[in-house]
Amino acid sequence: MSKSWTCGLCGGTIIEGQRFTFIGGIGAVHVECLNRRALSGAPESYRDLIALLDANEVLLYAITRFKEAEAVASSEEVRGVIAGVRRDVEKLAGRISSLLSGRVSV
Ligand SMILES: [Zn+2]
Repeated sequence: MSKSWTCGLCGGTIIEGQRFTFIGGIGAVHVECLNRRALSGAPESYRDLIALLDANEVLLYAITRFKEAEAVASSEEVRGVIAGVRRDVEKLAGRISSLLSGRVSV
């Protein structure tokens, strides 16, 4: 039987295996609820930047995992399909980074 907690921010159930953390004075909270609450008073431009950085991080992580999967695959067929999916994700990452490039001063 898996453990469960009540989220101190949304009141929903947190099931072991979900992303959550413990915050002093609140208790267990979903990471998504924590992020939403932490950014609730932030300016819109800051929230957009955080959203883009988060989305970028997810896509870059996926790309590295696809490369690892390509190295593990033994058949050309499987390696080729994974490489094709990785290239699609790289295109998606390009869409996010084009929005980020306008927000990074050099
Ligand atoms: Zn929650």
